[in-house]
Amino acid sequence: MIDTHAHLNFSQFDKDRDEVVLKCLKENIGMINVGTNYESSLEVIGMANKYGKGIYASIGLHPLDAEQGFDYGKYKDLNYDKVVAIGEAGLDYWYKPKGKAKRESYKEKQKEIFVKQVALAEELNLPLIIHCRVAFDDAYDILKQKKLRGVLHCFTGNLSDLERFLALGYFIGVNGIIFKMDLKEVIEKTPLERILLETDCPFLPPPGFDERNSPLSLKYIGEEVARIKDATLEEILEKTEENTRALFDKMA
Ligand SMILES: [Zn+2]
Repeated sequence: MIDTHAHLNFSQFDKDRDEVVLKCLKENIGMINVGTNYESSLEVIGMANKYGKGIYASIGLHPLDAEQGFDYGKYKDLNYDKVVAIGEAGLDYWYKPKGKAKRESYKEKQKEIFVKQVALAEELNLPLIIHCRVAFDDAYDILKQKKLRGVLHCFTGNLSDLERFLALGYFIGVNGIIFKMDLKEVIEKTPLERILLETDCPFLPPPGFDERNSPLSLKYIGEEVARIKDATLEEILEKTEENTRALFDKMA
């Protein structure tokens, strides 16, 4: 199993990071730790190099960190062997600054940063890990002309968003949010060939799991997808791992 979206570099794991990573590896759970800015991109690369096989990194600037600015050359220099994706990159319009002008410039800044990361993914031939919240139209406009690959992590769009992004070839990242939001129809309508499993840990723990989520909860997500898809857990785990390796093809 591979958790396609983890943040084990976050401070919630400061006390026992090694322990958690080693426990995951012992249970045959690999992971992609996803950077959210330059600093954390360095951290996830450090982790990938430290632990060897099974631990990978994605580098990028989260839309909520857009004000930090995206230095294209600096990120490009981080394209090491174990960097398998660009992200999280995307758009997040959930927070709305007060005043029309501020709201517009907030969106414009995010779009500008996203476009740069899309260009970097294109140049490095890497898939995108996309964070998109209430911004599917703008994200689609930016991606529709491009022949890129990627995943919409923690997908929360509606069925027409789903259809549009599936048509572009994108994967759909499924995590513990399925226990909070009704995404049953979304999962039913997503072909199994396009589903990736993720945890977004330390956030979004499935019910009954520790308050601090970890990649060890991945099979709970798999079980829920199996239930909705009327498949066995083994089928779901096998297929989603195949999908993961197909998308993140730099994985050794
Ligand atoms: Zn994340």
